[in-house]
Amino acid sequence: MKQRFETISIHGGHSPDPVTGASARPLYRSAAYAFKNSQHAADLFALKEPGYIYTRLGNPTQEALETRLALLEGAPAGAALALASGTSAVFYAIINLARHGDEIIAVSNLYGGTYSMFAAILPDLGIRVRFVRPYDLEETAKNITGKTRAIFVEAIGNPGLDVADITALADLAHAGGLPLIVDATFATPYLLRPLEYGADIVLHSLTKWIGGQGNAIGGIVVDGNTFDWKNKGFALYDEPDASYHGIRWGHDLPNALPPFITRMRTVPLRNLGACISPDNAWFFLQSVETLALRMDRHSANAMAVAGYLAGHPKVAWVRYPGLTEDPCHALACRYLPRGCGGMVVFGLAAGSASGRELGQRFTERLGLFSHLANVGDAKSLILHPASTTHSQLSDRQQQEAGLKPEMLRLSIGLEHQDDILEDLEQALAGIA
Ligand code: PLP
Repeated sequence: MKQRFETISIHGGHSPDPVTGASARPLYRSAAYAFKNSQHAADLFALKEPGYIYTRLGNPTQEALETRLALLEGAPAGAALALASGTSAVFYAIINLARHGDEIIAVSNLYGGTYSMFAAILPDLGIRVRFVRPYDLEETAKNITGKTRAIFVEAIGNPGLDVADITALADLAHAGGLPLIVDATFATPYLLRPLEYGADIVLHSLTKWIGGQGNAIGGIVVDGNTFDWKNKGFALYDEPDASYHGIRWGHDLPNALPPFITRMRTVPLRNLGACISPDNAWFFLQSVETLALRMDRHSANAMAVAGYLAGHPKVAWVRYPGLTEDPCHALACRYLPRGCGGMVVFGLAAGSASGRELGQRFTERLGLFSHLANVGDAKSLILHPASTTHSQLSDRQQQEAGLKPEMLRLSIGLEHQDDILEDLEQALAGIA
């Protein structure tokens, strides 16, 4: 029987242990796993038999998390790989399909760390990233060349909060023989499942709402396993891999092993090593059980905050896709019918002081909000992205990333809505 989201988030990937009866997935803290015999060892390394070798490559606690997240995204059970951080999820997703001489297209309104990786690190590795404006499908199509290997977009951009038109981008990508990769961190699979709209690969920073309490770092990549990697453009899947017994990842794997995730585990993860710790995997398994409840509350609180700020005379502008006047509201109605998540960004109406100066004064007057560089916590958070998370970007790059100099970014938590509003009210009242 097909289970629904809330049920999978609690039961997916684990049933009581047949030996001990443990009802929660145990935390397996073992670096390595004993082979039954020499043949068993050889078969594991040759991918002829599933099983555990060494925790850098996989671990039973991590596996339960991967299965649960894959099922929540609507992907096959074995088609996810948990990693040390959202950043390593982005990096491994790219280098698992592109190599020196290849190109990626990225919609420009990205998290600052991803933008820097794409603008500075990938080019040093010989992978060119062509940035395109959000919603400019014509420009996106023009940038597809014989060397392009993927289109990358954030489902809800950090920090601009533009909602991606996933179906339109997926259609464009597929017409060019390319996969669409969606970083859906700001939506979580509860609010949006990009695979249902045609995306091929979804990734998340687990650190944010999936963890939900700001106390563990992790990332995950989920592959819909629908993209055909045999296409000759994808040399990493077509040519024999000298680093792994000459295997051709797009051709030689048994049907049960999804090529993209199997290659990511066996090549980048095995050899570069950004594995998730079993402890963090265990923590994310617990927290995902309440994701649906928490996202409903985050969305309701954020909607109330956005509405309040939009009506305040000291506020110049507010972005929240749930507001009917937001430029992305129509896309939000289509892609985010359950709610628009916990992020709200806004700018203060500058009088004699600059918007940025006012923002600093406002931030310092807040009592309930924590001033720190994270999102997706149960606690309400505030940050000035232009001088922090996105400060390494030039003015032009910040503009391309959808960032205004005066923008304040709120991650609305799970506190009582009235307490959140009262804190904003007293801070607004206290600034000139
Ligand atoms: N993707 C998005 C949209 C993010 O906001 C972040 C971090 O803020 C990341 C990826 C990177 O995740 P992590 O901090 O877990 O490396």
